[in-house]
Amino acid sequence: MPVSTLNPHAIRGMITRLHDPDYSRWAAQIRATNGCRQPIHLRGRVDHIDRATGELLHRYTTRTEPGGVLRVPCKTRRASRCPACAETYRADTYQLIRAGLVGGKGVPASVTAHPCLFVTLTAPSFGAVHTRREKDGKVLPCHARRNAPTCPHGRAMSCTARHGTEETRLGEPLCADCYDYAGSVLFNALAPQLWRYFTDALRRRVAKAAGLTLRELRAQATIAFAKVAEYQRRGVVHFHAVIRLDGPDGPASPPPAWASADVLADAVRHAASAVSVTTPATADEPACVLRWGTQLDVHPITLDGDLTDQAVAGYIAKYATKAAECVGTLDRRINPLDDLSALPLREHARRLIAECFRLGALDELTDLRLVQWAHMLGFRGHFSTRSRGYSTTLGDIRADRTTYARNEEITTGRLPLFDEDTVLVIAEWEYAGKGHSLGDALLAAALTGTALPTSVTRDGGEGR
Ligand SMILES: [Zn+2]
Ligand SMILES: [Zn+2]
Ligand SMILES: [Zn+2]
Repeated sequence: MPVSTLNPHAIRGMITRLHDPDYSRWAAQIRATNGCRQPIHLRGRVDHIDRATGELLHRYTTRTEPGGVLRVPCKTRRASRCPACAETYRADTYQLIRAGLVGGKGVPASVTAHPCLFVTLTAPSFGAVHTRREKDGKVLPCHARRNAPTCPHGRAMSCTARHGTEETRLGEPLCADCYDYAGSVLFNALAPQLWRYFTDALRRRVAKAAGLTLRELRAQATIAFAKVAEYQRRGVVHFHAVIRLDGPDGPASPPPAWASADVLADAVRHAASAVSVTTPATADEPACVLRWGTQLDVHPITLDGDLTDQAVAGYIAKYATKAAECVGTLDRRINPLDDLSALPLREHARRLIAECFRLGALDELTDLRLVQWAHMLGFRGHFSTRSRGYSTTLGDIRADRTTYARNEEITTGRLPLFDEDTVLVIAEWEYAGKGHSLGDALLAAALTGTALPTSVTRDGGEGR
């Protein structure tokens, strides 16, 4: 337990809560949030009304709850904000990705026979960065160059260090003044568009390989995607994706006879090298053409080979709960008026953020919303996305869990089981704050067996 959280104020808060006549009700709410670190406070009511007679069968109101609010999980996917809810998100994402590989959750097991690849699309280089390289289990020097050239800033473009896995220098440029910060930020901003162009090009290429038009392809096959964005240490996103070839009606229909993992892999390589996005020209900078990096990994996913369905699902689910904070930025929006040098940022991240502010102020680039997304180093896409037809949806998985948990649903109380066709449910909710007081946070961690936060965000919640 960090000493700083156990101050007299926190202890007083705990004692007050423990002596509160509503304590057991509060504890029940907290247990129902499964250890959420920053539960949302809701004020409102749920009425169950008989559709035929208009009779009010049951009313739940937060008026009688501790503090007049219901505390519900924040449901964030970001582990840096709430480890408990991020873990739920990770587990759901795992189930969903895995269902698309081996079946389950409404996807037939025959999907395992469909051509399926695990593909990593990287960003190009924006300048040499410190890197940990390994070969045959041995760590190699970072950038060992005989007679390394000196850059215009007088720095030797060489580094002979064998970097450790956790060194903070990893991902930092050899010369920050030479590094193409504009290129890096613009790549992040345009990566979702580059991905869309890639998927279009992939469909065209598969059609061509089969000697079909796009329309004819649609009658024979569909291509399903599930992808996740990952930040490399240098602060640029790359994508990991599951790409699967199905029959015309999705995972339940068999792919045509010509479809194979090789046909799909060739088309992926071709499409990845064919597409580009052009950045808008500005008064200061000419338009520039951005493409995927030369490093492209394409692996077939098999049930028993090197790359199994569990490995892929685990990998994608893990990255689905991460964001840019692992590269030394903040996990919240940054006000352009903030003094960047006063924020706890890594120098490389600080320069990327400053570049977002600089470019975001240019008229030609306003559509990229770089100022709003500066803390994400320019990336404003979704972290994990799936095409329709990949497998079930997160919403369906959540609904499964909600239905399962309904008998103990906190808002229905002791309501007898009712038939949804005959009962009308009217819910009215308003947001009334978020988070725990210091004392509540300590009690909540003890009640739910979760780790204590190193710092507690809000004293008494941040709501009204
Ligand atoms: Zn949470
Ligand atoms: Zn180095
Ligand atoms: Zn330089």
